[in-house]
Amino acid sequence: MALLVQKFGGSSVSDVDAIRRVAQRVAASRAAGDDVAVVVSAMGDTTDDLLDLAGQVSPNGPPERELDMLLTAGERISMALLAMAIQDLGTPARSFTGQQAGMRTDSSHGRARLLDVTPSRVAETLKRGEVAIVAGFQGVSEDEDITTLGRGGSDTTAVALAAALNADVCEIYTDVDGLYTADPRIVPTASRVTRITIEETLEMAAQGAKILHLRAVEYARRFGVPLHVRSSFSDQEGTWILVDRPLTGALHQDGTTRHTSDTTTTEDPMEDPLISGIAHDKSLAKITVVGVPDRPGAAAKVIGAVSTAGVSIDMIVQNVSTSPEGLSDISFTLPEADGTVAVAAVRELQHELGVADVLYTSHVGKLSLIGAGLRSNPAVAQRMFGALAEAGINIEMISTSEIRISVITDQDVLEEAVRAVHRAFRLDSDAEAVVYGGTGR
Ligand code: ASP
Ligand code: MG
Repeated sequence: MALLVQKFGGSSVSDVDAIRRVAQRVAASRAAGDDVAVVVSAMGDTTDDLLDLAGQVSPNGPPERELDMLLTAGERISMALLAMAIQDLGTPARSFTGQQAGMRTDSSHGRARLLDVTPSRVAETLKRGEVAIVAGFQGVSEDEDITTLGRGGSDTTAVALAAALNADVCEIYTDVDGLYTADPRIVPTASRVTRITIEETLEMAAQGAKILHLRAVEYARRFGVPLHVRSSFSDQEGTWILVDRPLTGALHQDGTTRHTSDTTTTEDPMEDPLISGIAHDKSLAKITVVGVPDRPGAAAKVIGAVSTAGVSIDMIVQNVSTSPEGLSDISFTLPEADGTVAVAAVRELQHELGVADVLYTSHVGKLSLIGAGLRSNPAVAQRMFGALAEAGINIEMISTSEIRISVITDQDVLEEAVRAVHRAFRLDSDAEAVVYGGTGR
């Protein structure tokens, strides 16, 4: 018998039929003898709809405390309906708000951090043999105010609950059959990744792969929570995300009995392919500061001004100054949404630093090739850049880490770039990936 935390995203509980299908899956897991705690997101587009309503009644911007109060209602609807649907199948179930489930957070509304997770009522419910259902994405602050963890935060709720309950696995149910070597909406022949390390997953999530909330992956790494990302629309085994903790054979629900030595974590990693996948991020912009005096402190000033403005910078490139005056250029990428703020911050410095010009390009994207041990293999970069060259795609910037090579391209050719690199590394599978819902959550 295992303890499972099962998280269902908005597209998995989008309407009555979907909720009943999820109820059946949960009840089946329970009937198979496992303890099941469930975390749900709000139904379909509920969160967006509520945000929209808030905007309509408060054109000056809704107060954040009330906004959190409103948004958490979305998850309360789905948790209660799911509890009813499960009970209707004859399986005892009980729903809990984030507060009731012991999700204590700081008081930063809209982006609260978890401080402590004490799910004693959930544990008691499981002990009685009942299914516990927890509203995702929410908690309660030290002042007893209701908070939310930020968009997509239900993944984090699920991982945090799994860690606190010491669950055997946290299953993340979504509308695709797991993690793919590229976004199947762009590369229909992308292959499903059967297993991947948590470090690679972290890199994929950080580089724009939309399937898992970055914070949830960070949390899973910190607390050693094994994740299984799979579809709620099929019984296919999904992607196992490996952590440094042994899994037991009891976890497998497909009816097969496996020995402990045959589980995912203990298989020979040497057999794994070098590349685990391609992530892409379409919504970036680039700023180039032209003619920066080549002296200590110049880069610190430019980058400092942008960070002080609250903009997170991604890739930074400074070229070697070749001009007789000792001037160099600094380019960096940032979220497209922060473009205006960042340009204003740099322009303010322009005079003081004696910078020639500040150039802004709003329309760039980033492609990242990710795989463990990738950097120690120079042939990988060669093949990647070769594929882009052959497709006639210009690389604007390059950056690398131990397990990643990223390039910046024009946004219009980004999808083509993803397909070209995917092909070059022969990551395509024979079968088309199935996207059941369409939201990727
Ligand atoms: N319902 C929230 C959102 O849409 C949280 C989540 O789905 O994880 O962002
Ligand atoms: Mg959602």
